[in-house]
Amino acid sequence: MCIGVWFLLITTMFSSCGHAALTTSSPLSVGQTLSSPGGSYELGFFSPNNSGDQYVGIWFQKVTPRVIVWVANREKPVSSPSANLTISSNGSLILLDGKQEPVWSSGGDVTSNKCRAELLDTGNLVLVDNVTGKYLWQSFEHLGDTMLPLTSLMYDIPNNKKRILTSWKSETDPSPGEFVAEITPQVPSQGLILKGSSTYWRSGPWAGTRFTGIPEMDESYVNPLGMVQDVVNGTGVFAFCVLRNFNLSYIKLTPEGSLRIQRNNETNWIKHFEGPVSACDLYGRCGPFGLCVRSGTPLCQCLKGFKPKSDEEWRSGNWSRGCVRRTDLSCQGDSSAETQGKDRDAFYRVSNIKPPDSYELASFSNEEQCHQGCLRNCSCTAFSYISGIGCLVWNRELLDMVKFTSGGETLSLRLARSELTGSKRIKMITVSILSLSVFLILVIAACGCWRYRVKKIGASIISKENLEGAWKSDLQSQDVSGLSFFEIHTLQTATNNFRELNKLGQGGFGTVYKGKLVDGKEIAVKRLSSNSVQGTEEFMNEIKLISKLQHRNLLRLLGCCIDGEEKLLVFEYMVNKSLDTFLFDLKKKLEIDWPKRFNIIQGIARGLLYLHRDSFLRVVHRDLKVSNILLDEKMNPKISDFGLARMFQGNQHQDNTGSVVGTLGYMAPEYAWTGTFSEKSDIYSFGVLILEIITGKEISSFSYGKDSKNLLSYTWESWSETGGANLLDQDLGDFDSVNSVEAGRCVHIGLLCVQHQAIDRPNIKQVMSMLTSTTDLPKPTQPMFVMDTSDEDSSLSQRSSDRFSVDENKSSKGA
Ligand code: ATP
Ligand code: MG
Repeated sequence: MCIGVWFLLITTMFSSCGHAALTTSSPLSVGQTLSSPGGSYELGFFSPNNSGDQYVGIWFQKVTPRVIVWVANREKPVSSPSANLTISSNGSLILLDGKQEPVWSSGGDVTSNKCRAELLDTGNLVLVDNVTGKYLWQSFEHLGDTMLPLTSLMYDIPNNKKRILTSWKSETDPSPGEFVAEITPQVPSQGLILKGSSTYWRSGPWAGTRFTGIPEMDESYVNPLGMVQDVVNGTGVFAFCVLRNFNLSYIKLTPEGSLRIQRNNETNWIKHFEGPVSACDLYGRCGPFGLCVRSGTPLCQCLKGFKPKSDEEWRSGNWSRGCVRRTDLSCQGDSSAETQGKDRDAFYRVSNIKPPDSYELASFSNEEQCHQGCLRNCSCTAFSYISGIGCLVWNRELLDMVKFTSGGETLSLRLARSELTGSKRIKMITVSILSLSVFLILVIAACGCWRYRVKKIGASIISKENLEGAWKSDLQSQDVSGLSFFEIHTLQTATNNFRELNKLGQGGFGTVYKGKLVDGKEIAVKRLSSNSVQGTEEFMNEIKLISKLQHRNLLRLLGCCIDGEEKLLVFEYMVNKSLDTFLFDLKKKLEIDWPKRFNIIQGIARGLLYLHRDSFLRVVHRDLKVSNILLDEKMNPKISDFGLARMFQGNQHQDNTGSVVGTLGYMAPEYAWTGTFSEKSDIYSFGVLILEIITGKEISSFSYGKDSKNLLSYTWESWSETGGANLLDQDLGDFDSVNSVEAGRCVHIGLLCVQHQAIDRPNIKQVMSMLTSTTDLPKPTQPMFVMDTSDEDSSLSQRSSDRFSVDENKSSKGA
């Protein structure tokens, strides 16, 4: 997604002043062209049907056949060879016909008598005030049927403004055709193609990085699209970014009503996306409560629990009136039955679905709450808990549902319980028969085993103690590089029976206590909360693996203990505790000057390099943050809690208080939105860590200025303006120039690590070489959640931070 569109747009615009331009004294005549400075685009007269009709348009300069991306006089062609495009006395761009009468004008309330028109290398035709350099008008704000990279569609309800695409009438007639593409102000927004005034195609609601109605846009899809809404102020922006590795790309709404993303690989145009493509994609194909099955014949089916409104019409393939409920909901009938709990409605899950239209975003923060919320509300017909969105509910009839062969979302449909019991009964009988058979087989097998064991080693029962004994001897026999198996009483003694005074801290996986073994060795004992879903055997295997990860920048695991439900991990004790205790303490922070901080950054990078690349396990940490960086007596950093995520599965790590453990500010956008984890999400967290270490400011509590900039936006602005040297923790006092240069470079690396797209972030190997050399660094783009607060742009930052808070509850360790 390209959240930095506005910034890029502005920088690209300003960087191209001073090239050949169109002025009052040098108008553009038929046959002449104006090129953009880098030769990417060309402006001139063209005739699409080789008649005498001439239009002023913009096209890719080096591409044949010509692809027109913008037209000025769409509705009024000129035919005279003396027509020309010039600047009027009041400063607008005007097209004059042979009689020097205006045929088209850029209009608006421009009042500058000294301006020029320039074609930029982005394909944007701009009218620039010669004195102020301000843009008085730009073609990117007046789109035709095409979006070029860095353009956007938008809506602005308070100002009653919209930026939309309008198709051509035909391939040879640029006048406005019958199709329009726009984004809706629904929350979340979706893309629409309208034919006249009726909806023709719908993208499905936007889920942070993808449209839910386009299954091809799965998590691996490199999406050049981005959407940001400011719900409070009633604005929304849908942006198109530059497609990686492709010089040229565009989105076009064709005269046939199809939206196409095309990209050029130097020789050919390749279709990156096209919609609608299948008969099911046409809006409301199967009517209310009808399901259009992409691979089905007939195309339309009624949802479970529904029947065709008119059998006859349905059979003849006229599906538009859709389906009606077979059994009334208990909610709609006898409400006392509901309160007695006898006949409450139930939900039926339909998978691989394009979420129907007319959805509403509910504020429930998990699937169960979403379920209960819908159940409680009689008018709620369905709900869906979607990654990247949250809880969507439907309070009306369900329209425009498509069943994909794969991908899509799961919709839970409200039905009378009796609609489900039939199939439930069959299911129960099947399950009972299966369970009985499995039980019998197990009994027979157990008898066989028992007889065998009685024969071999005599009758014995394996007690808890000798199970642990077995593990212990197993470990000893394997010589697991110094890993010890502790008895619970040893750790109880060492930690004064897990006394409150010994507590070092509490984290998402459990509580950490300081301990002292009888030989005087100090240890840190992590008493894990009992929510690991692993069995003892898997748990032990995991520990054995992790204990083999050894590096001087990783905290050593010394041993473990399992006693019934209790699972404890024993680590080396770090006298200086965690980095946060220094960094954010007004006094202690003075102990870590820049050279020490730089050493800590490098040490963390080395530890991460080992985890990601050099270790046999290739571990993604998933929870890098200041409290997981421990410091030894020489202030060398040690990454802790690596591999812990491996031992836990699913969404198990919300702590006892029910609060969220995963730390919001450190989470890469793709993790926060979709739960996707990779080395690159660790890199993002590492980037945040770098910025915290440099500035001495905590990501979670940092807020600057009246517009409450977060740490990333503050850093970005400061780095863009002054190179970042002044970001170094002011509490450290004066710095020499070496420190400033090093710190500036680290800010630069930090910004590269927090790039919005995972692919734009360096990997740890690259980070390592950036940290240890002085070679030129790539330029970062403005990270996510960082926006100018001007005009529409502010909506981007606003919505982005909203999005984070919406997802806050779903994000936790190990998800
Ligand atoms: P998370 O569960 O996400 O790792 P956390 O790091 O805040 O969160 P714990 O890992 O449980 O929580 O650690 C709690 C605190 O205990 C840490 O902040 C640190 O100060 C302290 N601590 C943890 N391990 C050690 C250790 N080996 N030596 C000294 N102090 C430690
Ligand atoms: Mg920790």
